Amino acid sequence: MEQKAYEELKARIFDSIWRNLDPLEEEIENNEALPYDKLFPLLREMGAFGLRIPEEYGGLGLTVSQYIDIIAEFSKIQGGIRVVVHVHNSMASALSKIANEEQKRAVLPGCAVGEKSVAFALTEPDHGTGLDLGTTATREGDHFIINGRKHLITNSDFASHFIVFAKTKADKSEDSVSAILVERDTPGFTIEALPETMGCKGGEHGVLTFENVRVPVTNLLGEEGKGVYQLEEALEISRLYIAATSLGTAERAFDLSVEFAKERKTFGKPIGERQAIQRYIAEMGIDIYALRNMIKDAAKKWDSGKRIPAEASMCKQFGLEAVGRVTDRALLVFGGIGYTRKYPIERLYRDARLNWLEEGPPTIQYMVAAREFLKGYRWEE
Ligand SMILES: Cc1cc2nc3c(=O)[nH]c(=O)nc-3n(C[C@H](O)[C@H](O)[C@H](O)COP(=O)(O)OP(=O)(O)OC[C@H]3O[C@@H](n4cnc5c(N)ncnc54)[C@H](O)[C@@H]3O)c2cc1C
Repeated sequence: MEQKAYEELKARIFDSIWRNLDPLEEEIENNEALPYDKLFPLLREMGAFGLRIPEEYGGLGLTVSQYIDIIAEFSKIQGGIRVVVHVHNSMASALSKIANEEQKRAVLPGCAVGEKSVAFALTEPDHGTGLDLGTTATREGDHFIINGRKHLITNSDFASHFIVFAKTKADKSEDSVSAILVERDTPGFTIEALPETMGCKGGEHGVLTFENVRVPVTNLLGEEGKGVYQLEEALEISRLYIAATSLGTAERAFDLSVEFAKERKTFGKPIGERQAIQRYIAEMGIDIYALRNMIKDAAKKWDSGKRIPAEASMCKQFGLEAVGRVTDRALLVFGGIGYTRKYPIERLYRDARLNWLEEGPPTIQYMVAAREFLKGYRWEE
């Protein structure tokens, strides 16, 4: 999107985030449910469902550098809302890369206006991820027959389509996994809810069961057996979005801490005048400054057409460590009152914990970054 139009859009979205969405926090945290009847019209009005969808399919076509600032702002308010927006945009943008023209025309315009949504079905309760998947898609004439189980699948309560990763070959070879688009109401496909999460409350991360689910072979996304490569590309950019989420949550905890340190007085002086508190504030600032610049650099590289597996995993890993330290320090600045719901600090602390898990735990980020370095990769300007 052209820069001037983007700045206007960003100002409108930021205004709506704080004026319309932030006030929903208490209701969501109390009910542990997102009020979709209020939330969806607001998100549609802001254009939040079309942020990362190309303009030719009715979306806003933001670059990654542009989107980063917006998803970071969403991560300052109640986390369940951020999760809906993040997963919707990540998956619609992944589909716009891996689907054929007919598949894109069928799904993306609906996604851009929030009438359809694509969820990502990879993780399994009975198997590991990638080549270890247990879900199978067996060819029978013009159909795949899908069997297996997935869990923790975000937006499963409203998604119209699911990108399902399944084994199209029985062995563990590199070309044994394929990505297949499955529509919500396909016979044999059932969805159940999981118990509520620690943070980012409200959204659903369901259990999907596939029992002899017949899907036309035309629903194959890209080439058969290329699922692992598609997965790596989709997760690469999604990891950068999680880093931006860490940034937003950390910035909110930082801003609240700075304010509090100026107001809270002990022994006749604001606690911000104590060196111990100043050190916490300075440490938070260092983490945020470093993270912001890492993300900006990686986003710029992606927007210029480069692949960024090492940068994305480093940003994701540094981001979760940074937001962990910052929300921890924020609790120390606030003292006991920070542990109560009087301030959003305890929620930011809980919401941030999801960043350890989404798009792969730390072990995976270390593995991806180390693999790139051992292959000879070095960062460049
Ligand atoms: C709120 C929420 C939303 C989510 N949304 C989605 C979604 O929309 N779609 C989706 O597909 N998934 C989703 N997930 C799943 C998430 O991506 C996974 O939970 C995460 O990647 C970890 O995988 P796992 O749960 O299978 O853990 P496991 O693979 O069981 O790992 C458990 C621990 O063992 C370690 N481990 C596992 N295997 C190895 C190994 N070979 N070597 C060394 N260490 C290992 C891991 O690092 C981890 O510490 C979501 C999770 C949460 C909590």
